[in-house]
Amino acid sequence: MSPEEYELTFMAQLQGADSKTNRSQQTSMRKIGPSDLVCRERVRRILIGIPKTDSVASTAALMGTFIHNGISQYRHGEGLLHDIEVQIKLPSGLELTGHADEVDTINNEVTDFKTATDLAYRKRAGAEDSHIRQVHLYALGLMQAGILKENPTVRLCYIDRSGREPHPWVWQIEYEPNVIAAADEWLTDVAYAIEHKEEASRDWPVGMCRRFCPWYSSCRPEDNGGLPVNNPKVVEAANIYLQAYEDEIEAKRVKEQARHLLKGVDGLTPDGLVVRWTTINHSVNGPYERLEVRHQ
Ligand code: SF4
Repeated sequence: MSPEEYELTFMAQLQGADSKTNRSQQTSMRKIGPSDLVCRERVRRILIGIPKTDSVASTAALMGTFIHNGISQYRHGEGLLHDIEVQIKLPSGLELTGHADEVDTINNEVTDFKTATDLAYRKRAGAEDSHIRQVHLYALGLMQAGILKENPTVRLCYIDRSGREPHPWVWQIEYEPNVIAAADEWLTDVAYAIEHKEEASRDWPVGMCRRFCPWYSSCRPEDNGGLPVNNPKVVEAANIYLQAYEDEIEAKRVKEQARHLLKGVDGLTPDGLVVRWTTINHSVNGPYERLEVRHQ
């Protein structure tokens, strides 16, 4: 077998196994689960059965599935359950089915595992909203099934897929009902769009759509086009550029949030960071406040 043939067989078999998992089948069964709540237009397309137009072969997603399977196999403990199917009924009456990664019935906790390409970045940016929504929905379903008690701990455990970071990064809070209210509203938007035969909000940034959405060509036709580029090095460079661009946008968002929290603060942190605000009067756009944060 040539290296090329081996490569094709290898990926085809792994992807075949991945498509047999419960998670992958949820979409083809025209049900939606908490993990689908990333883009309202995508959920609409799943629910009304619009045929997919693109094949999305993501090695990252595949590795994520195998890491999940490995964790379920090797994590043991009293009261610890893995890959638990949950039926979730939202306050509006909408119902979802999902699979909770790990449930600790003794400590009243639910944990969702996430793999990340850059864990250092994830720590800086914080937990993703769609992940927080997802794990809360599992918690709700588990409480409704009597598997968890009121006010469970909801946890996200981010694992570095690249293997650079030896420890996961863990985010957790006590169950927050407002997150469920927001998720319910999000899904109600989708139900409204279906009822009125409209398109729903396109929530994902186009770069994510291009890489991960099987409806990309039909949903974002304005973004398609151009001559095919097949040189592997060029393709790799284009992907690195896009990832860096998206990271930059996210970093700007995180920086803005931090700037907001630092408003009015001047001083020295215990770990030696100087925080200082200066009024800049001589600017063509008028006076403004400049924030400086630096090592002492
Ligand atoms: S292409 Fe993007 S916006 Fe359209 S359905 Fe897919 S994720 Fe949503």
